[in-house]
Amino acid sequence: MRILLIEDERELAEALSVALGKHGIVTDHTMHLADAVELTRQNLYDAILLDRRLPDGEGLSFIPELRRTGKDTPIIVLTALNEPRQRVEGLDLGADDYLGKPFLVEELMARLRAVLRRPPSLAELKIMAGRLVIDPLHLSVTVDATPLDLPRRELLVLSALARRKEKTVLRSTLEAAVYNYEEEIQSNALDAHISRLRKRLIDASAGVTIHNIRGVGYLMKEE
Ligand code: CA
Repeated sequence: MRILLIEDERELAEALSVALGKHGIVTDHTMHLADAVELTRQNLYDAILLDRRLPDGEGLSFIPELRRTGKDTPIIVLTALNEPRQRVEGLDLGADDYLGKPFLVEELMARLRAVLRRPPSLAELKIMAGRLVIDPLHLSVTVDATPLDLPRRELLVLSALARRKEKTVLRSTLEAAVYNYEEEIQSNALDAHISRLRKRLIDASAGVTIHNIRGVGYLMKEE
């Protein structure tokens, strides 16, 4: 794992680099915001640790600047500016976490693990298969940018298959994607959804086919 540390207190930065190194983390360090932007262009970081009072400005200004470049690298603000209002300010500007100085390295490590556990933002999770683009956040599907209207359950089956395209998806996985635990599932309900879905995908020339793997589940292939 590689992180970028933007921090102007040299001793703290050195101590942190050593401490993180013991956890197998490679740290790139800079004291300047200007360099930070350039570094994120050149390297892929798993996370960024950001101080606020820096020689060339307010650290928080880096957050929207980074986000504008399309990067959603997790950012943890590390700062002595730790009043409740200041924490709100940092989080609202797009920081993923905010840790007041002084802090224990153990807590920083725990917070790093926590932000890295989070899945990527839903907006990024658009699923592509054949000529389909599925947006699970807005429950919408398009074929070559033309909207495809699907009943909710067919859309959920489609998403589950497309997410694992070219792999067999178990019936139980598909059922779990469509029904909550309180709903009683008719034994052939899934097959009925898939049969209607297949027809719609053919009609829309979606560029994918759904194959029955007898007794196991279904498989989506791209054409
Ligand atoms: Ca500082």
